[in-house]
Order: sequence, then structure tokens, then C-alpha cells
Amino acid sequence: MEQTTKAAGHPKGLYLLFATEMWERFSYYGMRAVLVLFLTKAMLMDKAFASKFYGGYTSLIYLTPLIGGYISDRYWGNRRSILVGGILMAVGQFILFAAGSAYGTPLGQGLLYLGLGSMIIGNGFFKPNISSMVGTLYSATDKRRDAAYTIFYMGINLGSFIGNTITSLIGDTGRPEDFRWAFLACGIAMVLGTGLFQWGKNKYLHTPEGEQVGNTPINSPGVKGVFAILPVMLALALGFLWLDSTTLPVIMPLLILSAVGIAALILLDKSLTHGDRQRVYVIFTVAFFVVFFWAAFEQAPASLTFFADEQMNRTIMGYTLPASIFQNLNAFFIVTCAPLMAMLWTALGKRGQEPPSPMKMAIGLALLAFGYLVMCFGVNDLQPGVKVSMFFLVALYFLHSIGELCLSPIGLSLVNKLAPLKFSSLLMAVWFLANAAANYLAGFMSSLYPEAGKPSPKLLGFEITDLYSFFMVFVFAAAIASLILFLVNRKLVK
Ligand code: GLN
Repeated sequence: MEQTTKAAGHPKGLYLLFATEMWERFSYYGMRAVLVLFLTKAMLMDKAFASKFYGGYTSLIYLTPLIGGYISDRYWGNRRSILVGGILMAVGQFILFAAGSAYGTPLGQGLLYLGLGSMIIGNGFFKPNISSMVGTLYSATDKRRDAAYTIFYMGINLGSFIGNTITSLIGDTGRPEDFRWAFLACGIAMVLGTGLFQWGKNKYLHTPEGEQVGNTPINSPGVKGVFAILPVMLALALGFLWLDSTTLPVIMPLLILSAVGIAALILLDKSLTHGDRQRVYVIFTVAFFVVFFWAAFEQAPASLTFFADEQMNRTIMGYTLPASIFQNLNAFFIVTCAPLMAMLWTALGKRGQEPPSPMKMAIGLALLAFGYLVMCFGVNDLQPGVKVSMFFLVALYFLHSIGELCLSPIGLSLVNKLAPLKFSSLLMAVWFLANAAANYLAGFMSSLYPEAGKPSPKLLGFEITDLYSFFMVFVFAAAIASLILFLVNRKLVK
């Protein structure tokens, strides 16, 4: 038994989940890397609408885990949810492949919606379950759990790196008919991930005592209530996914309503102690700040890719790199810098100087602001037709990635630690909701990307006349959020 359960200090099951998630992130980030270019260059959407479409789509991607998590907790258990989710996501990618083959036609348009809809539902089942399964491999007191999540985060970024590289090279070639190859590769990756999971789940996914995990729901199965929820999911995917100017604005109120609903549900519960309640407030406060972070960060596949495509010199030694490949720098810096950051926190910890979690998050936001500030230097007084050196974008991604390392893994474990047990999944949902709102806003912000020959977009009365003022918006938003978090840090720690 010992032989099959332990590998390099961690259960082998961790590596199965690592590999499964790696292929899934290959598929998600690989597709997302070329999505906005596919929308503008093959489906001929204008940049502003393609941006909002991207924001609406990724926002729904983070919304369905609420429902997927619920179904899994109550009825299906982790394993079945991951299988169903994986299949739906693979099917979605293959439908996108068909959409890419029929681009520019009404059929292609219909297939685009259907493919993305399938992936939205699939992700709802897949993502929350694969993440929570990691923890189930360890006993509640096991100290290796945090390290396990760090290793898992590496899998995420390794998958993103490989996926993004392949899809950029085969899909973002300048020929609109090539985008479909990117989607095909993503479909194959998803089949590999799901197949691998099916192959290894009985062998490797068990507790330290050898008991199988993820087969049974946490709550008793009850009536086949899943049939009551499926229509809701379908409505969500098909109704809202017909993302046009009338359905898009519905998403944000829906998110706010869900957040208020969850907050009410938790805070009205009489069994919570005063301390519990304080901790719930902290989670909501932190989630609020996280919205600013991801809204600015997730410009990567949208406005930052428009920038790389049109305004940046992408030629190295005679070879012109695809614009979408630069998003890869994020995963690259995460994988290479994560061990260094871990060493830094440990070293500071030994001297009793490790900053508390909200402080680290404030640092993350500050780094985000710095990243955009560097960019502002690059585009200041930019003359039409002149291209900017790629240094500025590389520096931005470096600073943003270090910022992500300060904020993202820490936020997740903070929610895990602070949430009263009874509401742990619901508070995890709050974290996902924050991501959903952020992605929606990211799309909205990217839609303000200034274009020559078009009227300057306006934000709260402020006119965005050029790239400098566009990126300055992010500098200010992230800097202000960081400053406030610095100021309330003490209170949150208490
Ligand atoms: N890159 C991480 C992932 O894909 C975190 C993304 C996020 O929380 N927005 O899981």
C-alpha cells in the first residue's frame, strides 16, 4: 500500500489531479489566448464588442461553479462531476473547432455560442471539484496540504504555458482559417485530461487510510433534485450566452444579487458566533478587493493582446512572434518565480517578519499598478504608426505575475481557513463570484481600448484619448485599492 500511495512526500493522487488539471488548463487558457483575436479577425466583431463578449463569457465560466459545486455536494460527488464536466468541455472545444471551420457564416456564429455554452456548463462541474479533491487526499491536520495546493498551482500554470504556446503557434498565424486548429488542440487536451482522470481515479484517489474519495456527495443524495437545477444551468448558458448588447448587461446585476443572497443566507444564520461573523466579513472584504485585481489583471487576453497585435514590435531575430503568445509570460513567471517567493516568505517568516495575508494582497495590487505604470512610460507620446518595444509588456507581465503570487494562492487558503465549516462551499462560491465580477469588468474595461479614427471612449466623465490614458486608469484603480487595503490591513488581521 505504502508503495502506491506515496511519491516524493505526497500521495500519488496529487499528481493525478495535477496532470488532469494541467490538461484542463491547457484547454481553457489555450482557447482563451486566441479567443479575442478569433472574434475580431475571423468572426469580424469590433474590438469593443469582442471585449465585452470575452468578459461575459469568462464571467459565466466563474458563475457556474456555484451550481456545479452544489450538485456535486448534494448529489453527484466530485468524481462524477469532474467526468461530466470534462466531457462537456471537450465537446465544447470540438464545437468551437467546427465554428472555426465555418467562420464568417451564420452556422459558425451559432456553433460559437453552442461551444462556449457547453464549456461554461462543463467548467461549472469541473473546476470546483478538481480543486476541492486536492484537500481530500490529506487528513485534516496534515501539514503538507498547503504545499499540495502550491504544487497544484504549478500544474495550472504549466498547462496554461504549454496550451498557450501551442494554440498561439498553430492558431494565431494571421490566417483566420487557422484558429480552428487551436480549438482542436484544446479539445484533444481535454480528452487526454478526462481520460487520464478516469484511468487513475480508482487507483490513486483515496485518503491516507486507503478509503476512496469523491464518490459520494457530502450531503445525502435526496430526491433527484438535479433535474430541477439542470434547467437553471441551461437557461444560464443558452439564455445568457446569447451574449449580445441586451443580455450582457444582465450579468452584473445577477452577480450582485447572488452575492447579496449568499451574504444574507450566511449572516442570518443564528448558529454563527460573533467571531464567525467577523471572519465572514473579512472574506467578503478581501473578495471585494480581489475584484479590482483580476479586473485589471485579466486584460491579458483582451486589451493587452490588442496592444501586442497592433502597437508592439514582435520581431526577434527576423522572426515575428504571434501576438497571443505574450500572455504566456504570466505562466512562465509563475512557474519560475513561485519557488523564489515561497523561499522569501519562509525566510521572512523565520525572522517573524512575514506580512499578514491582507498585506500581501495589498502588495499584489501595488505590483499590478506598477506593471501598468511601466506600460505608461512605453506608450507616452506614442506617434501613430510607431511600434513600442516588447520590453514594456514583458516587464508588465513580470510585475503582474509576482503580484498574482502575492494574492491568488493566499486568497484561496485564507477563505479555506476563515470560513465556518458549515458554509465553506458557499464562501468558496463568494471567491468564484468575485472572479466572475472581475472578469465581467475586465471585458468592460477592455472595450474602452482607444482606437484611431473612432470617438474617444469615456469612463466616469474621463475621456480616454490614447493608450497612455487607457493604461493610467488601471494604475489609479489598482493603486487606490492597494492603498485602502494597506490602511484597513490591521483591522482585517484582528
Ligand atoms: N490562474 C489560476 C487558475 O486558473 C487562478 C485564476 C483566478 O483565480 N482568476 O486557476
